[in-house]
Amino acid sequence: MKYNKIGKTDYEVSEIGFGAEWMAEKPYEEIEKLVRYCEREGVNLLDCWMSDPKVRSDLGKAINENREHWIIQGHIGSTWQKEQYVRTRDLNKVIPAFEDLLERLQTDYVEFGMIHYVDETEEYNKIINNEFMEYVRQLKSDGKIYHIGLSTHNPEVGLLAAKNPEIELIMLSINPAFDMMPPVVLDDYFENDKYSDDLGGIQPIRSELYQTCLETDTAITIMKGFAGGRLLRKEDSPFGVELTPLQCIHYALTRPSAKSILVGVNDIPELEGALKYETATDEQKDYSKILTTAPKHSYLGKCTYCGHCAPCPLEINIAMVNKFYDLAVVHEKVPESIQEHYNNLEAHASDCFGCGKCENRCPFGVEIIEVMKKAAGLFGK
Ligand code: SF4
Ligand code: SF4
Repeated sequence: MKYNKIGKTDYEVSEIGFGAEWMAEKPYEEIEKLVRYCEREGVNLLDCWMSDPKVRSDLGKAINENREHWIIQGHIGSTWQKEQYVRTRDLNKVIPAFEDLLERLQTDYVEFGMIHYVDETEEYNKIINNEFMEYVRQLKSDGKIYHIGLSTHNPEVGLLAAKNPEIELIMLSINPAFDMMPPVVLDDYFENDKYSDDLGGIQPIRSELYQTCLETDTAITIMKGFAGGRLLRKEDSPFGVELTPLQCIHYALTRPSAKSILVGVNDIPELEGALKYETATDEQKDYSKILTTAPKHSYLGKCTYCGHCAPCPLEINIAMVNKFYDLAVVHEKVPESIQEHYNNLEAHASDCFGCGKCENRCPFGVEIIEVMKKAAGLFGK
């Protein structure tokens, strides 16, 4: 199992994590078997956003004998009301719900206290400045959470969180379908008719988020890596073709700052399927053939920053040049921070002498020489 360090913390999380949401439907014995299996295989990241008392208690009972093994994302703002999950910022509900989480998990602390499911920038700006955030800070100073995280499906909210030094971890939905969508409400990600014909390639806001996380050392853990299973079924996939779990996992884990994918599994065979990623060949993981030949929303011609085009004889970091170009070109004027990062590259687009070796290697058919010319013009070197 490969482990990745979370930002400036001391924690190293397994790149395959345990998303336990389906455990709500399972008898305790099955949950315990899965937990033991995770422990044996080195899976050490557990996300518990669920507010259902039964699943919290069952997970707590199962992890209790090996509590030190686990790094837990526990959510703040996920409550249980009238036998149902309710997301709220009402502290009268939030505080008892978080105390309940600790009690049922049979622990005094969780490593990451996750501000639960913030999908609107307006709501983010509100709670980050009011008593909700005061409560989160209090949890940290009381040692009930060791670090602060936030979960979201909206890259705009993710970007705000990535720039907030108090937030060290973002749990974000990542897959190649969501990456090409502009910021929308969660349900729209799952509606195929919302994927307009002109979509294909990563949205600039997503690229900006990934880049900002790198700059601020903010870690990303991943949810919805299979788009709720839709990417695995041809008839449901917005690409008109299915991807394999290994391709989806590889796509998610190769986004900058991505540290672990929380795979939502039903049973041990499903977990085994995800763990095959650890020993899979490059060919089994390669998503580029699918995304370039997909009948719909092909990524053909769009850079995914995969790096297959390297090496350049002049040591131009082509993926980075492409990324800075994509980030900068959407603005009227090149932002200073992007210009500075570009200037700091060892070699620049203007160094390109058009040998074309990179283009032969690019599986996405990007016209790299053309992009180099445009980038040299935009950045002045
Ligand atoms: S130019 Fe092609 S090979 Fe190079 S990083 Fe972009 S998509 Fe990958
Ligand atoms: S075409 Fe330009 S960027 Fe590509 S390998 Fe040759 S010199 Fe490097």
